[in-house]
Amino acid sequence: MSNSIWSQFFGAEPQQQQPADKDAIVRVNKNRCPENHPCPSVRVCPVEALSQVRFSAPTADMDKCIKCGKCVRYCPMGAITLS
Ligand code: SF4
Repeated sequence: MSNSIWSQFFGAEPQQQQPADKDAIVRVNKNRCPENHPCPSVRVCPVEALSQVRFSAPTADMDKCIKCGKCVRYCPMGAITLS
């Protein structure tokens, strides 16, 4: 069992993901997001495609998104998908 800072706070390590195809879209499942924290995925997006208003579920700007999948891996609630 991992004992990293991440796992102490969020319970699971970020998962690896296969590269997404060019038509993939980032989707945020509001039913999985508790909307009570600064979204860690917003901070890791390399092109600032994700945004968040206060603690709301983040939204993705697909004109900026390069489909790297980082946001999917860093959401501890599994609320973000790229497909
Ligand atoms: S897939 Fe990558 S570029 Fe697109 S929103 Fe997620 S982190 Fe940002």
